[in-house]
Amino acid sequence: MTLEDHLGDMVRKARAMHGVRASEAAAALGLTEVEWETFEQTGRMPREVDWKAVARRVGLDPEKFESIARGWRPQVPALERWQVLRRFTTRQGDNEVHAYLIWDVETLEAALFDTGWDVSEILEVVETQGLRLRYLFLTHGHADHVAGVGRLQDELEDLEVRAHPTPAPRDLPGEEGLPVGRLRIWFRPTPGHAPDGVTYVVRGWPGEAPPVAVVGDAIFAGSLGRGNQSWELARQAVRDQILSLPPETLLCPGHGPLTTVAEERAHNPFF
Ligand SMILES: [Zn+2]
Repeated sequence: MTLEDHLGDMVRKARAMHGVRASEAAAALGLTEVEWETFEQTGRMPREVDWKAVARRVGLDPEKFESIARGWRPQVPALERWQVLRRFTTRQGDNEVHAYLIWDVETLEAALFDTGWDVSEILEVVETQGLRLRYLFLTHGHADHVAGVGRLQDELEDLEVRAHPTPAPRDLPGEEGLPVGRLRIWFRPTPGHAPDGVTYVVRGWPGEAPPVAVVGDAIFAGSLGRGNQSWELARQAVRDQILSLPPETLLCPGHGPLTTVAEERAHNPFF
């Protein structure tokens, strides 16, 4: 799977974050504005450039940005390591989004994180595996993440939908976490991309598999979601609530490939 953001997307986000104009960045690197615009749209430079210089100009980490330009992709264990974690990818136009389903293999209690555009495949797995889908947790309210809420509520009577417009302390489970069979779930507020952004951390996996964090659009492999609410808040939330998790933690973003805390600490040029 290719990264959610190409080099041009990353640079455009970094410019927005740091208030650098395209014309300034282009001039500093000896490119015309048209060449720069083409780069931001396609991710491809018209000729050899010093990637570290590009990164410095727009406020990205030079070494990490260069590692992406040289082809870094996150190394992640196969999903079979987590019993059971399944990813569902659905599309509408050019928007491709992931939803994640977890369940306890013994009790068959299950929880779903976001719905994607279409829940048909998810409902099929719930049916064929005999799962009891207790919870639907929403990472934030953007259409691509919640489009299937209505259909799930129609088809699954005892489904409890959890979303957090303003995460109140009483909604956050204590030290023991919220149980789904033997699995345990904790919520962490991650606003910035959206005011209602929440990251869900799942622990208690059989075989001592590492924690899993379903992050929505807070962070992507090598990038982060647009700071619609606030770039600074978005970056702070990722730093405090996601990159502070144990290094082996699996990160499940709404878009693009799976990654880990260790991979993002080492390669994400926004941090
Ligand atoms: Zn979003």
